[in-house]
Amino acid sequence: MASQNKNTIQKSDASRVSKKKRKSSSWMTSLIFRWISQISFFILTIYVGWMFYLFVRYCETGGATVYVTRSPGVEAFLPIGAFMGLKYFLGTGKVDPLHPAGFVIFASILLTSFLFQRGFCSWICPAGTMSEWVWRFGDWIKSKFNKGVRYWVEAFPVKLTCGLSMISTPIVTLMLLDIISFSSFGSPNMKFIYPFMIAAIIIPFALSRKIWPARVEDSIARVWKYSIFAFFAVTILIKMPVQQLEMMFTNVPFMKVADVRMLKFFTNMSMLAIIILSVIVVFSIFSKNYWCRYFCPYGAMIGILGWASAFRIVRNKKTCIDCSKCTIACPVHIEVEKKNVVYNVECLGCYDCVDSCPVDDTLDMKLLGYKKKIHYAVYAGFVVGLFVVFMNTARVTGYWYNNVSLQEYMERISDLDDPKYEHKQGEFAVE
Ligand code: SF4
Ligand code: SF4
Repeated sequence: MASQNKNTIQKSDASRVSKKKRKSSSWMTSLIFRWISQISFFILTIYVGWMFYLFVRYCETGGATVYVTRSPGVEAFLPIGAFMGLKYFLGTGKVDPLHPAGFVIFASILLTSFLFQRGFCSWICPAGTMSEWVWRFGDWIKSKFNKGVRYWVEAFPVKLTCGLSMISTPIVTLMLLDIISFSSFGSPNMKFIYPFMIAAIIIPFALSRKIWPARVEDSIARVWKYSIFAFFAVTILIKMPVQQLEMMFTNVPFMKVADVRMLKFFTNMSMLAIIILSVIVVFSIFSKNYWCRYFCPYGAMIGILGWASAFRIVRNKKTCIDCSKCTIACPVHIEVEKKNVVYNVECLGCYDCVDSCPVDDTLDMKLLGYKKKIHYAVYAGFVVGLFVVFMNTARVTGYWYNNVSLQEYMERISDLDDPKYEHKQGEFAVE
C-alpha cells in the first residue's frame, strides 16, 4: 500500500513536471526578457558616457571638436553626490542645483526598491549586468576545472573579503563613533593592531569548514557593503549640516566638476585603481555577483529598503518536489527550496528560481495577500516603467538639467589641473 502511494505521488509529480515543460517551450523566458532589459540599459549607459566624453573634449579643446550637449544621466555615477542631494532635499525641500539628474535617478532607485525590492539590481543596473555576464562566463570556465581547483577559485575571493571585512568593520565603526579619524592612521600606535590584522586575514583560510561554515564567511564578507553604506549614511545623511551642503553646491569648485573628475578617474586611471579594478573583475569571474554581493553600497541600501516591499518569491510547499533547482539557480545563494516566502535582503527579483522550477504553480513572484502570481513581464514593467516615468517627469518639469552654463563648463574644464578642483580627505577649496 505504501509503495502504491509512493508511486501515485511520483506519478503526479511527473505529470506536473511534464506539463510545465510543455508550457515553457517558448523561446521567451524571464531570463531572455531580463537580458533584453539589461542590455538596453547597458547600451544607454555607454551612450550617455560617450556623449559626456565628447562634451568634455569639446570644452577641453576650447570648442575645436564636435559639440554635443552634456548628458545629465552621467550624474548617476556620483554616489556621494546622490547622498548629498538626498540630505539637501530632506533638509530644504529643494533639489540639488548642480546634479539634479543624479538626485532624480537616486530617488527613483529608492522608490523602485521600496515598492519592488531589488528589481533595479537585476533588471536595470549596468554594474549588475556586467557582474552577471562575468560570472556566467566564470561558470563556463569553472566547468573545465576539477573539483578541488573549482572549490579554491570560488572560496578564495570570499575568504579574503571576509578577512578584510573583519579588519574594516571595526575601523569604520570606530570612525563613525568619532573615536578615530583618517589622521589616526599616521599614528605610531597603529603598529599594535597589525598582528590582529594578520590574524583576521589568516583565520578564514586556517579554520576548517566544520567550525567556520561557508555561510558565516559569506555573511562576514557581506558586512563590507553595509559598512560603506553606513559610512555614507552617517557622515552625510546624519552628520552633514544642510548649510554646509548649500555652501558646497554654491561655492565649492570641485562640486561643479565632480562629474568631469569622475570621467577622468576612468580615463586616466592610476596604477592602484587599475590593480583594484582588475582584482574585482577576476574575483567576479569566480565568485558570483562579487561586487554587488560584497561591496555595492547601493545594493545594501536597496536591500534594506526592499524589505518593505510586498512583492515576494513564494513557494507552494504542497506541490514542491524538493528538487533544489531553485536554490542552484539563485545567483545570491538563497536556499529558496527551504523558504515558503523569500524574505531576504539579497533577493534580486530576477526570476531565475521561478524559471528553473519544473513544477507548475509552485514557485512564483506574488504580491503578498493576493493569490495571483505576477508574471515576469508585469514585474519588469513595474520596475522599469516606474524608473523611466520618474526620470521623464523630472525632465519635463525642469528637474533634470543643472544651471551651469556651457561657458562656465568650458572655463572650468580647461582649468581642471588647478588645485581648487581637488579635495583632500573631504576638505575642499572654496571660491
Ligand atoms: S530568490 Fe529567486 S528571485 Fe531572488 S535572487 Fe534568488 S533566484 Fe533571483
Ligand atoms: S520550489 Fe524549488 S525545490 Fe521546489 S520544485 Fe520548485 S525548483 Fe524544485
